[in-house]
This record gives sequence, C-alpha cells and structure tokens, in this order.
Amino acid sequence: MKKLDYIIVGDGFGALFFAHQLIKNGKSFQLFSEGEKGASRVSAGLVNPVVLKKFTTFDRAMEQIESLHQSLEEIAQYTGVNYFIHEPIHRIFHDEKERLLWKSKAQNPSLAPFLSLDDITLEGIANPYGVGKVKHSGRIDVEAFFKGLTTALKDRQILKEEQFDYQALDASAGRYKELAFSHVVFAEGMGVRENPFFKDLPVIPNKGHRLTLTLPSGGNLTHVVKKKHFLFPLSKQQFYYGGTYDRHSETNEIDPVAIEQLKRGLEEFYSGPVENLDAQFGFRPTVRDRRPILGASAKFPNLFVFNGLGARGVLNGNFYAPFLFKHIETQSALPMEVDLKRFNF
Ligand SMILES: Cc1cc2nc3c(=O)[nH]c(=O)nc-3n(C[C@H](O)[C@H](O)[C@H](O)COP(=O)(O)OP(=O)(O)OC[C@H]3O[C@@H](n4cnc5c(N)ncnc54)[C@H](O)[C@@H]3O)c2cc1C
Repeated sequence: MKKLDYIIVGDGFGALFFAHQLIKNGKSFQLFSEGEKGASRVSAGLVNPVVLKKFTTFDRAMEQIESLHQSLEEIAQYTGVNYFIHEPIHRIFHDEKERLLWKSKAQNPSLAPFLSLDDITLEGIANPYGVGKVKHSGRIDVEAFFKGLTTALKDRQILKEEQFDYQALDASAGRYKELAFSHVVFAEGMGVRENPFFKDLPVIPNKGHRLTLTLPSGGNLTHVVKKKHFLFPLSKQQFYYGGTYDRHSETNEIDPVAIEQLKRGLEEFYSGPVENLDAQFGFRPTVRDRRPILGASAKFPNLFVFNGLGARGVLNGNFYAPFLFKHIETQSALPMEVDLKRFNF
C-alpha cells in the first residue's frame, strides 16, 4: 500500500496553492482533479488590493500581495515561468465627483500605497473624467498558471485525474482505496456540498459570468480597465470581460440576463465592433463574513477543509495555504478570523 503524507481533493487556486506548500516542504501527496472547469479557471486572475466600488482596502492587503509574489517566484523554480502579469488595474471614473473622491481617498494613509494620484486618460475607450491607477495591482495568467502547475504535478506523478469518491474514504483507518494517508485537505470550492464531512459549511455560491471576445479595433487597449466589470487583453485582439455577481442562481447554464448585463457594461465605455463572443461561468465559494474557512473536522482530526475563497481566490488561496499547512504540521493556531471554529462546526 502506497503511504502518503497528504491527499488533496480539488484543483482550483485553493488546492494548487496548498500543493505548492507541500512541494516546497518535501511532502508526499496525490491531488485529485475531476476535470471540471471550477471557478478558478474561468476567473480573471486579478490581484487587486482595492475594493473598487467605494475605494477602500482590506486587512493585510500589502502583505498578501508580497506573499503572492514570493510564492510565484518559488513556483517559477519548478515550472520555469513566473505567472504574474504586471498590468495595473485602471478604474474608469463615472463622474467628476468620483474622481475627486479617489483623490481624497488617495491621501488616506491606508490607501495611499494603492491609489495613484496621477492624472490619466486612456485611448480607445470613453473616459471623459479620466481613470485612477491601482498601484501594486496586476493579474496572474490564469490559463498558463493551471497548465504549468498541472504539468508539474503530472511529471511528478502526483496528479490523479479522477473524481474523489467520498464513499471510498476510511478516515479512521487513514485509507483511501490503495492509498494510506496522514491527512486529507478538501479544497473543492462549491463541490464541498457533495462532501459528507463538510457539506454543511456556510459556503454560499455566487455565480459569475465572463466573456471572451474579439475587439478588432482594440489595439490601443493594453491595460486592465474597470468600470462595471474588468476588461483586459488575453492576446492581440482577444479580450476578457467580466465578471457578474449573482447570489440567487444556482443553475448549471449560461444566464442570458448576465450576458446582457456584460454587453451593456462594455458598451458604456467601448463603442468599437465586438466579435466571437463566448461566455463561461463559475460559482465563487463565498462566506457571509467574507473570510475563507480553514480547519479540521471535529470528528476526524485528519480531515481538513480549505474553502470560502470568495471573490479573491488568488490572494486568499495563496496567503492562507501556509497557515493551514503549519496548523496541520505543528498544531499552530489558525488566525481566528478564518478558523472553521468560528461557526461552531
Ligand atoms: C467570473 C469570475 C471571475 C473571477 N475573477 C477573480 C479574479 O479576478 N481574482 C480572484 O482572485 N478571484 C476571482 N474569482 C474568484 C475565484 O475564482 C474563486 O475564489 C476561486 O476560484 C475559488 O477557488 P477554489 O479552489 O476554492 O474553488 P474552484 O476553483 O471551484 O476549484 C475547485 C475544484 O475542485 C474540483 N472538485 C470538486 N469536487 C471534486 C472531487 N470530488 N474530486 C475531484 N475534484 C473535485 C472542481 O472540479 C473544481 O475544479 C472569480 C470568479 C468568477 C466566477
């Protein structure tokens, strides 16, 4: 029987950033991927320290960004690529009042590191009141990140391309089919609802649609721009536009209302032709208090959950993976705000 330190269930940002901790610390593991496109793979991959509705920031934003850069450098050592794209986000101002609000918020010590005071106008889009640049923002190349890491796991024979079968897990004996394990980390995003050990976690799906589209005259658009949603180039004429938010729909199909919303959002600032529109969607695993959920099952202390990454899968996934790893290895306390125990689970 093959003996492993860990089994990871899932293949999104949560699972892969946790896998990186295991690689870095020389642990043996298998990662189960059922081959469905989860939220991470349809995401924009944006790394954004600012809430762009009200121009606020969140706890430990700079620390989270620095930690991401460090992890991406470490990952580049075995994939050969650093997946960070240094294209800062530019927020299109709706009116003069909003532009002035940005300027005043940029004087605030907690926002000054992130809100640029530069007066900027961009070509190729309507931005009569200009745009604000978010410093330290950017994005990861989502497609390349998943391709690169999946290949690295395949090469090491760590990737199991199959659905994890919960019925075949014997947690008390530390067995799963032909594998013996010390710990299982479940990082299934909304798939957690099928997990008999953690199905009652208060994780709420928030459905997000995105478009991939061709903008034949979008040649000047080389930045990430945001008005209602985000627009950025994927290749020369191909662009990403999204994503929507919907807490009510749980259907597994494209929602025409969301597509209409996206089309109208784009028209607000882009008037050129749009071709080859393709839509995709995913379900963000969100939590009412907007914090991830980490911790062990009360009944089986060798089973752990890493979920609730919300709308910030990249930053949350990377930042909290080492906390969970340390907690499992050394029994160090988890930060209270992300500890599963806050729900009396
Ligand atoms: C349209 C959209 C845009 C977004 N944009 C951004 C963004 O710009 N920046 C950002 O940081 N976040 C963004 N997000 C949020 C981000 O995508 C999520 O926070 C993140 O993907 C959650 O990651 P996860 O690993 O928890 O779940 P997921 O990405 O859903 O991954 C879970 C995976 O586990 C697999 N799985 C489940 N059960 C099993 C099983 N039994 N066996 C094997 N595999 C299983 C699933 O197939 C799935 O692929 C966006 C989300 C959406 C929908």
